[in-house]
Amino acid sequence: MDHTDFYSDRKFCTCCNAYVPYLMGVEKSYCSHCGSEVRLFSKSDWTAFHEGLQARRPKGGRPRKDRNRESA
Ligand SMILES: [Zn+2]
Repeated sequence: MDHTDFYSDRKFCTCCNAYVPYLMGVEKSYCSHCGSEVRLFSKSDWTAFHEGLQARRPKGGRPRKDRNRESA
């Protein structure tokens, strides 16, 4: 499965402590398992996401926050 597809389909539930299918709300999304509010990334992934943004500054154009391609 493609990594980016995985993240577009799922969000992180801190209650389940896992990436879960979610229900899209108006402003927030909710875990389809327990109903808790979900976030885009887990805390560790969120940190890595921001570090990746800072390490790789966009040259011209607008910064893209929707895709985070990992250069492992
Ligand atoms: Zn949950």
